[in-house]
Amino acid sequence: MGRRIYGLETEFGLHAVGVRLNIEDAARRLFHPVVGWGRSSNVYLSNGGRLYLDVGAHPEYATPETDGLLDLLTHDRAGEELVGDLAVRATESLHSDPAHPDLPASAGLRVYKNNADSHHNSYGCHENFMVERHPHFHSFVTALVGHLVSRIAVCGAGRWQPERNGEAAHYQVSARADFLADAMSSSTTRSRPLVNTRDEPHADPRRFRRLHVISGDSTMSETTSLLKVGTTELVLRLIESGHPGPLSLTPENPSTAIRASSRDLTTPVPLADGGELSALEMQQRLWQWSEAVVDNDELATVRAEWGRVLDSLAADRWIDLADRIDWAIKRQLIERDSQRHPDGGSARAAQLALAYHQPGGIVRRMEESGLVPRLTDPRAVTVARTEPPATTRAALRGRFVKAARAAGVGHTVDWTTLRWTDEPGRTSAAASQTKRTVLLEDPLAAQDERVDDLIAAVQAHGGSAGQGELLV
Ligand code: ATP
Ligand code: MG
Ligand code: MG
Repeated sequence: MGRRIYGLETEFGLHAVGVRLNIEDAARRLFHPVVGWGRSSNVYLSNGGRLYLDVGAHPEYATPETDGLLDLLTHDRAGEELVGDLAVRATESLHSDPAHPDLPASAGLRVYKNNADSHHNSYGCHENFMVERHPHFHSFVTALVGHLVSRIAVCGAGRWQPERNGEAAHYQVSARADFLADAMSSSTTRSRPLVNTRDEPHADPRRFRRLHVISGDSTMSETTSLLKVGTTELVLRLIESGHPGPLSLTPENPSTAIRASSRDLTTPVPLADGGELSALEMQQRLWQWSEAVVDNDELATVRAEWGRVLDSLAADRWIDLADRIDWAIKRQLIERDSQRHPDGGSARAAQLALAYHQPGGIVRRMEESGLVPRLTDPRAVTVARTEPPATTRAALRGRFVKAARAAGVGHTVDWTTLRWTDEPGRTSAAASQTKRTVLLEDPLAAQDERVDDLIAAVQAHGGSAGQGELLV
């Protein structure tokens, strides 16, 4: 495969702080501007991305299809900003709402790009990779499992766990490990697999599948996000090239392995083929093999950074990662804080661990003061809030959403479909000759004459009563 399509979905945690509001009401308030804009709490934006309220009142942002890692990070960051700004706006609305008099200044809605709430409910960050339809998808996915288990070493978001079920309070590298079960399944919630195998390619089903990795942590540091997707891209390439190595690293029991590794990256993990290796050793092997599949600067950067992180871990110097890798940054913050406040107890650590995941919060301030590197260009992130990636199908979706909204015509959109929905009887002659539904089965195609025709007809038909972007 040449270019690859990537997408990231992030479910956010939502809390109402210092105000009596049940979670459904909080979610409704958070999405008030979205519903005002799109008359729904499930919308596709003019940047081609999707913003919606998932079950359990978790706001979710799914990036548009991107075909490069930096583009993906830029769009992920734009989504984080949008959801963060929705929380700021909802907080302002609460403070001016007579139904909530005398709120303390600190009251409001907070969103968190994390993976679990205080009731031990977990929610996810999904990575999507377009792959060619493989005759043996099951073994293709199995070959990835060793990486998905061991990569927590380089892309875990970290988890501070107070004493629970007889286990002492501790810190572990992965936020999701304790919640994962099978290696693969077509369910995302019931059995919590590493890979969701529901066959929903959002593309021509004869040619493509969408590899739907649901085991990853929601990451804050951009280097951590880059390694999460970038190392997985490298291992995917290895598997696609027929390299037998990745399959030989499949743990005998993936969920036990990821839980044990999350607590100690050097603990030996029994492998399906016999023998055992630690997560760190698995990563070192994958890193070595991956040299063969690097063919561009972006992947060379990923591999160099991956190697640096593994070297620090091999030298038992996690502290050297406390400027780039989420689990290490967060661990250092918590350790320093507890040294300064030895009587603070576990509530203080839990509070800090939560604050770490706030959009516009600690990590963004560390970036501003140069403590954590920023990889995305802030101007590009601002642009990505309203503009789609130029080189994928998202460009077509974005153009159509903009045109339909500007013309004020009814429309529906999903990953593969653009549809003009107004009553046929009310359309002009030009419109009645235009195909009103366009199916876009190639996510790599950013140009399409059918879409040009559809947009021209919408523009010819439309009035000027339309509206523009969702601006939060
Ligand atoms: P769920 O939220 O239940 O997991 P889902 O995974 O089907 O549902 P969305 O939340 O709508 O879906 O997100 C889909 C993601 O897949 C988006 O980030 C999108 O950019 C990406 N995507 C779309 N088409 C493709 C494709 N052909 N290959 C890979 N990724 C794709
Ligand atoms: Mg989703
Ligand atoms: Mg998903």
